[in-house]
Amino acid sequence: MKRSNSEKLYEKALEFFPGGVNSPVRAFKAVEGAPLFIKKGKGPYIWDEDENQFIDFCCSFGPHILGHNYPDVHQNIVDTLSNGTSFGAPTKLESELAELIISRNPYIDKMRFVSSGTEAVMSAIRLARGYTGRNKILKFEGCYHGHADSLLVNAGSGLATFGESSSAGVPENVVQDTIVIPLNDIEALELAFEKHADDLACVIIEPIPANNGLLLQERSFLLKLREICTANNVLLFFDEVISGFRVAFSGAAEYYDIEPDIVSYGKIIGGGLPVGAYGAKKHIMQSVSPDGPVYQAGTLSGNPVAMAAGIAQLTVCSQPGFYEDQEERTQTFVNSVNAHAKEKGYDFSLVTIGSIFWLAFSDSTTIRSASQIDADMTPFKKLHKALLERNVYVGPSGYEVGFVSYVHTKEILENAAQQFKNAMDEVFS
Ligand code: PLP
Repeated sequence: MKRSNSEKLYEKALEFFPGGVNSPVRAFKAVEGAPLFIKKGKGPYIWDEDENQFIDFCCSFGPHILGHNYPDVHQNIVDTLSNGTSFGAPTKLESELAELIISRNPYIDKMRFVSSGTEAVMSAIRLARGYTGRNKILKFEGCYHGHADSLLVNAGSGLATFGESSSAGVPENVVQDTIVIPLNDIEALELAFEKHADDLACVIIEPIPANNGLLLQERSFLLKLREICTANNVLLFFDEVISGFRVAFSGAAEYYDIEPDIVSYGKIIGGGLPVGAYGAKKHIMQSVSPDGPVYQAGTLSGNPVAMAAGIAQLTVCSQPGFYEDQEERTQTFVNSVNAHAKEKGYDFSLVTIGSIFWLAFSDSTTIRSASQIDADMTPFKKLHKALLERNVYVGPSGYEVGFVSYVHTKEILENAAQQFKNAMDEVFS
C-alpha cells in the first residue's frame, strides 16, 4: 500500500507540532510509522492523501454516528454557514438543539453548551463543587474524562488514598482533591466513602468506560454508586462524552436505567464539529452563571454552525428503532468475527456494547479494571497493520474502541468481518 504522501506530510507536520499531531491519540506511536493523513470521508469510508480507501471504524473517535458527511448534516451546516459563523449573541439554534435533547431526556432540565468534552467535564466538576460547597471528587482508575488538571490523576499507593498526577504540569495540590479507586470494586468504594464522604462533591464515572479498552461494568455496581451517592448527598456524575447518544439517545443512563445528577456530553452531540455540553436538574443548574455563582463561559459556546450539525445528526438518532438497528448490525459483525476467532482458537475477541466494539487480546470476561489489560501491545500492533493493509481503519491504539455508524450497512460489515478474519489468520496462525 502506497503511503508516501502521508509520510511526507508527517515529516512536515513534525516541524510544527509536538509529535506531528494536534492530539496525541492521532499519532501512530503505539503502532509505529507515520499516521495516515486523511483527505476526505464519505459515509463509512475515509480516503488518505495517497488515495487509499478504508472502511472507517474510528469515526473521528466517536462523533460520526451517521458516518462521514451525512447529507442532512452537511446540508444543515452549509445552510447555516451562509448566514455567518459566530455572533457572540444567542441564536435560536441553541434552543432548538437543547429542546431536541431535553424533551427526550428525563435526567436533565437544563444544559449549557461548550466546545469540547474536556470543557464540559471541567465545567461540570466546578458546578458540582460550587453546588455542594465541597472540594473532593472521586474518580475511577481507567476512566478518562478529558485533560483538565484535576482529572489527570492515577491511583495512589493504597485504596481510597489521594491520586498521583498522571501528567507533568499538574500540581500536587490540585491532585490532592481527587480520590481514585478501581472500577467495579464495592469494597474500595465503601472505604472511600467512609473516609471522605463529607468532603465529596461528586463521584465521576464513564458509566461505559471506553478509554482503556471497553471495561463494561455490572449494572449492580452502577446502582450501588447511585445508592451510596444518594445516601451521602454526593452528586453522581455520568461522563457520557462517548456513551451519550451512542448506546441510547440518553446514553448509558437510559441504557442501564440509572439516574445521574450531572451529565456531560460531547462527540455525537456536535455532528463532527466542536461541541460539548453538561446538564442537570434545574435546582443544580441554577448555580451556573449568570443565574448563580459558578462562573463558566465561552466565546464560541453554542456556535451556530456546530448547533446546526448537532440538530441534523440528533434528529436522525431520535428516530424510533435507530439504536436497536445500530446494536443489531454491530452484534452480527462482532459475532461473525468472534466465531472465527473461537473456531481457530485465537486469543482474541471483540467486546461490544451498543455500536461500540473493542479489540481484546485477553479473556474479556475477566476485564474489570484497567490494570487487568495486557500492556503488551505487540498483537494489537500486528493486527492494526494487517487491517490497514486490508483497507480497514481502526484507531491506532489498543486502548481505543471502534465505532459502527448508521451507514455501516450489513454488506459493508460483512466485508469488514471477512477482512478481520483474514487479518487474524495472517497474524495469529
Ligand atoms: N470524557 C470522555 C469519556 C471522553 O472519552 C473524552 C474524549 O475522548 C473526553 C471526556 C474529552 O473530550 P474532548 O476530547 O472532546 O475534550
